[in-house]
Formats: sequence, structure tokens, C-alpha cells
Amino acid sequence: MTGLIEPLPAGPLPAGVGAVLVVDTGAIIANWNLLRARHPGGAVAGVVKANAYGLGATIVAPALHGAGCRHFFTAHLTEALAIRALVPGAMIAVLNGLSPDAASVFAAYDITPVLGSLSEIAAWGAAARQLGRKLPALLHIDTGMARLGLDAAELARLAGAPELLAGIDLRFVMTHLVASERPEDPLNALQRARFATACAMLPAAPRSLANSSGIFLGAEFISDLARAGAALYGINPMPGEKNPMRPVARLQARVIQVREIAAHAPVGYDATWRAARPSRIATVALGYADGWPFRLSGQGAAIFDGAPVPLVGRVSMDLTTYDVTDHPAIQAESWLEVIGPNLPPERIAEQAGTTPYEILTSLGARIVRLARAA
Ligand SMILES: *Cc1c(COP(=O)(O)O)cnc(C)c1O
Repeated sequence: MTGLIEPLPAGPLPAGVGAVLVVDTGAIIANWNLLRARHPGGAVAGVVKANAYGLGATIVAPALHGAGCRHFFTAHLTEALAIRALVPGAMIAVLNGLSPDAASVFAAYDITPVLGSLSEIAAWGAAARQLGRKLPALLHIDTGMARLGLDAAELARLAGAPELLAGIDLRFVMTHLVASERPEDPLNALQRARFATACAMLPAAPRSLANSSGIFLGAEFISDLARAGAALYGINPMPGEKNPMRPVARLQARVIQVREIAAHAPVGYDATWRAARPSRIATVALGYADGWPFRLSGQGAAIFDGAPVPLVGRVSMDLTTYDVTDHPAIQAESWLEVIGPNLPPERIAEQAGTTPYEILTSLGARIVRLARAA
């Protein structure tokens, strides 16, 4: 299996696997510790929505929990239930809020909803009365994102009727920054000020403000709980500056076949690429059905033994082709690195015209995820 970067975790790979995503849990923990050092006086939660940004929530959540992380965020209730038993005692908060049919499930499994409207507050308060005990919740205030959270009118109504929160144990009041990747954007300070005003109108409770990039905006953005996703997984929280985070994800795809083609022969759908010389083409088991972007067609390169290997032709559903004419060591059963320390998600995203968040969260279910504790 030439090109497969050692050491892989113990145990053989599943037979016939096409692509392997090696997740460096030691790097995730190092990144969490770095974020904690940058967020003194407040905790740092692990945001593990979307299967921990594609890396595998059942790998990431227990690793962070083992390091001492006691706050987790998912987007969906189903995602919270999937990790409930893996992070005993920890808060698991659901960012998308309390759907009307779900209150009893939240309560039964000790999942904490992020309440984002007066109707959600009413539903959770009613559930608390029915159960005869206080129920934990976060309260989401909209300070500029206009997606979820109480708007100014709802906030004013709640401030005038704090009894609406009866039965609710308010763990954190939170808001979400719109432009934290751009420190110069005046929206950051505006949202911080609006958030401070909102908190002053509400019963005293701990606060949660920064996401990954927000942690790097300075001391005014430190709160009781930061909510970090991207930076934990190695994505640069300060685009344009040197990435302070350690790389976490390494995606390797298996070469299924290598073939010789004549000069001028086309490769792939619609014959978008033709060999300029007699060539060797390697076909790997990774395609857009695995979340490998179609937009990479004809662009970029994989890495083999430290050297770039150009991608040629169209990315297809299950396969991608590379020109390995200059890499005689690449054979069937070789492994090409397509994301990794030398090919960060940021680079792939730039080539595919998207964000590194989308590159990682798109990685599909056929990819085998393996934890590697560095
Ligand atoms: C996704 C999300 C986060 C995490 O953001 P990162 O930029 O990945 O750190 C934090 N808060 C909310 C409300 C989110 O939706």
C-alpha cells in the first residue's frame, strides 16, 4: 500500500475501502487547549454539529470529553442523541432550537435546547411545569444574523415579563457573530454592544459570545463560554494570517487502477482533458458522491511521497483521475493524499470556489473515518 502515511491506527482497514479520513484526535485536543489559552476566564465548548464538521462526532466528542470538555453543541436533536452516552455529564445544546414535537425527548435525554423565540420559551416552560422540575436551556439573542434568536421586539417582551422564564434554568444567554473572520468589520463591536444591552435586560446568567474566529477578536469578546467548531478541526480562524491551529484531517484515496494511454487520448466525461504525451492515468475511489467537489475538475493536485500529482479530467460520481506519468511509483493500491497537512481544506476550498467548512462537512458516509491519537 505505497503512499499510505504511517502510522495508521491499529487494525486493518475494512476490505475494499475507497477512501480513509484519518482524524488526529491529539491535534484536536491541542487545538482545544490553544483556544482555551486564548479565552481566559471562560470555557470553550466543542461544536460537533454536522458530524463534527465531517470528521466523525463519535470520534471527536469522546476525545474532547476525555480532555475535560464539558460543553457540546450540535445543530439537530438527532446529532445530540448520537453522542449523549459518549459524553456523560456534559451539556449538549441543540443550536436549531426546540421543535414543538420534541420537548419530551429533550427532557428525557438531558439535551439542552437553545431557545430562539418566545414560542420555544413557552413550550419549554410548559414542559418544565408538566414534569414538575426545572429544565436547562440556553437563550439565543439575535444581534444581527437574522436567522435564529429573539429579535428586539421579542427581547423587549421577555424583559417586561421575566415570569415567562419560570421553570427554565438559564445556563447561558448567547448570540452569534456575523463577521468574526474579519476583525476590521464594525459589525463585531456593534453586535457585542447589542449583546451587552440584551443581557442587561434579562435575569443574570452566564454569557456565550465567540465562535472560533471570535476568540481571536480580543479581550472584549471573551465570555463565559466560547463555541468553537472550525478551529478545533484545523481550519484557520484568522484567514489571511498564519494558521495557529494544528492540522487535524488527512483524507487518502485508494488507486484502483493505473492505465497507459496514447498521446491525444481523452480522459473522463466529456473528454475535457487530453494527454499531451503518452501518459499513465491513476483512477482513485473518490468522487463527488463522497463530497469531493465537482468544481475541482481539471484543477489542483493530490500528494504522493511529498510531490504534487495533477488531477486531470472531470471529477465523476465515484472516481477521480490523476496524471501519474511522472510518478512511476504510483500503482494500483497506492494511496494519494487529497487533504492533509500539505493540502489544507483552505486550499481545496479556494480551488473549488467554496469555504473550508463546506469541504469538510461534505465528506460523505462512504469514507472510513479513523482516529489517530498523536
Ligand atoms: C456553527 C456555529 C458555531 C461554531 O462556529 P465556528 O466558526 O465553526 O467556530 C458557533 N455558534 C453557532 C451559533 C454556530 O451555528
